[in-house]
Amino acid sequence: MMSDSGELRTKRAADLALLRADVEACRRCAIGYTRTNAVCGVGDPCSPLMVVGEGPGEREDLQAEPFVGRAGELLTKMLGAIGLARHDVFITNTIKSRAIQEENGKRYNRAPSPLEMENCREYLNRELAIVAPQVILALGSPAGKSFLGRAFSITRQRGIWYAGPNGAALMVTFHPAYILRQTGGNMTAVKRLVWADLLAVRQKLDEIARTRAAEADALGVQAAGYEALELDLR
Ligand code: SF4
Repeated sequence: MMSDSGELRTKRAADLALLRADVEACRRCAIGYTRTNAVCGVGDPCSPLMVVGEGPGEREDLQAEPFVGRAGELLTKMLGAIGLARHDVFITNTIKSRAIQEENGKRYNRAPSPLEMENCREYLNRELAIVAPQVILALGSPAGKSFLGRAFSITRQRGIWYAGPNGAALMVTFHPAYILRQTGGNMTAVKRLVWADLLAVRQKLDEIARTRAAEADALGVQAAGYEALELDLR
């Protein structure tokens, strides 16, 4: 017999597969026609942590998976540094098609436009509703703005806990691609800030796990109490 958590995981995976089919059929934006693949979220559909980046780049577009390539490798290392395997986390982006600009016949990545983010929000919202993370880590300024509004400033507002969607705790930190673009002392300084943010995420996850364990214990005690009472009354 499948456990409750196994059933939940199966149900969420099925819901995510339906969502993927909708995204693959979506052509709301012009980039829906230029993409190679739609790129939906991957990972554990029951993870307490959802990582949300900006949008797929060239490698992601080719492989139909978020956060592959150098930035993806760095994200995997960042998660590993706080004891999380990549496949235990749900990883997605604010938009599901690669945002490009074309120059001299070549395609370059660009930040998603506000309209693209608005068009695609439904899909991110559906991922949030299905996975129901307790903690959201948004990576980079566009992802931060998508949750906290266009006035969001990553230099002033990263590393702070905000009330995120559906009661989740939300934090924004620098995108791994931004870290990789830094050199020398700048890179060290940015890495230090990101490390502090990651530790805060680890602490938040631990706090949530402790609260859940205490609630489960209390429920267990309550259930045992009811059972004893029932026996007494027979
Ligand atoms: S970015 Fe999102 S809304 Fe726009 S075409 Fe791609 S999947 Fe559709």
